[in-house]
Amino acid sequence: MNLAEWLVRTAKRHADQPALLLGEDQVATYAEFALHAAQVGASLRSRSRVGPGDRVAIFMKNSPAYLELLYGIWFCGAVVVPINAKLHAREAAYIIEDSGCRVVFVSGESDLPALLPTECSLYDLEKGPAFEPDGEALAAPIARHGDDLAWLFYTSGTTGKPKGVMLSNANLQAMTYAYFVDVDEVLAEDAAVYAAPLSHGAGLYNFMHVLRGSRHVVPASGGFDAAELCALAPRLGNVTMFAAPTMINRLLAAARQTGYAGEGLRTIVYGGGPMYLADIEAATALFGARFVQIYGQGECPMALTALPRADVMDRRHPRWRERLASVGTAQSCVRIRIAGPDGEEKAAGEIGEIIASGSPVMKGYWNNPDATAQSLRDGWLWTGDMGSLDEDGYLTLRDRSKDVIISGGTNIYPREVEEALLTHPAVLEVSVIGRPSVEWGEEVVAVVVPAGPEAPSASELDAHCRTQIASFKRPKAYFFESELPKNNYGKVLKTTLRRRFSSF
Ligand code: AMP
Repeated sequence: MNLAEWLVRTAKRHADQPALLLGEDQVATYAEFALHAAQVGASLRSRSRVGPGDRVAIFMKNSPAYLELLYGIWFCGAVVVPINAKLHAREAAYIIEDSGCRVVFVSGESDLPALLPTECSLYDLEKGPAFEPDGEALAAPIARHGDDLAWLFYTSGTTGKPKGVMLSNANLQAMTYAYFVDVDEVLAEDAAVYAAPLSHGAGLYNFMHVLRGSRHVVPASGGFDAAELCALAPRLGNVTMFAAPTMINRLLAAARQTGYAGEGLRTIVYGGGPMYLADIEAATALFGARFVQIYGQGECPMALTALPRADVMDRRHPRWRERLASVGTAQSCVRIRIAGPDGEEKAAGEIGEIIASGSPVMKGYWNNPDATAQSLRDGWLWTGDMGSLDEDGYLTLRDRSKDVIISGGTNIYPREVEEALLTHPAVLEVSVIGRPSVEWGEEVVAVVVPAGPEAPSASELDAHCRTQIASFKRPKAYFFESELPKNNYGKVLKTTLRRRFSSF
């Protein structure tokens, strides 16, 4: 089924309901949203001969028009290639060329045109809309099958070149239905606020809100601004949004300054990176029962596990803290196992690689059979994440397999050391990595961003670690930095840190 059918269905039932907003200002009703998408689809077909299966890129910051483009591309049966607006034009050009895009939508981008393949046309939304306001509109979405490609998403690539993850209509439908079952209810009165990039998971979270006829809101700043959000949420009401853990920490800092206590905010779905126990405890202390965690990856989008609101808040449960530190249980559309290197299943409590199978798992990597064969084996997706399942099915994530430190033959999981250091009040952020050691093979070092102008001393942090973790896991050295290197999605670049600190 074509995903644009969902928009058409809602537009018929709730034609006059507000659909797209910029800040508090309504930009389109559902009838207008669906009409514009049908016009984008017609224009793509007539101007650029885009048809079923053709790839069309969007290299733009968040805006209400972004959502019209998504549905316009699907309307004519084509495949969306979302590109993070923060990427360099050369990185975007690589994705456009690799995916063989016919068309790319930009908004005032400067360096890209010179880098584009000749067969690719560019539409700049700053120079004019993506459709003729009175122009032709497609009568209905072009028929598509569940297995047809809908979303070709390039992985953030903390190492090597990004790979194109092929997601089908059926993959995205499974992810959407599981949201209603495992993550949260969705109401017509909701306002889905897109503070995180629409090119990533936040964009995939539009479907539930289209199905229910909720409002889609792009903040006036076009992105994440904590102070703006504190002011906007009470005015919109029923706000639901996806946020990476760093965004939540910044929102909390702003809330503490302004006295904001979560008014107007219904749900924050967090994930995409580790949420440390100390941080989620602080978040719930300030905002209460507003948090749900998900664990996913491009290859199984937003749909590996979920830790629902009730679990986050269930302080009376004897293992509440353990559960809060986990990423929850498998979503209803996937099976999750912990595997040893040869695929043997590990018992409860044992650490191994997290593998998953089920309807949201990608079809494979675009034009990359080797990488596909490595990731998809015997019907299982090898996530590259290490973790363990407890007796009740709660999954605790350790680290990416390549980030595990092997010191003296023992595995040390950086996240555990990071969790320990973050409970020290003078530590704002920390990343723990391994560096080569003649004696141990690798040894643990910590790169710390201090919370205030005075960095804590290494001996003070060492003493703190002694009270929290086994002695052999303690960092052998500390480095103090004003910030950590992060990729465009806010993930810490451990490869950069390893390069920088391995020879000290
Ligand atoms: P991406 O494919 O860019 O979305 O990155 C996915 C990776 O982010 C996963 O494989 C995990 O390593 C990490 N990740 C996603 N969700 C979580 C979470 N809730 N907690 C910790 N790490 C996460």
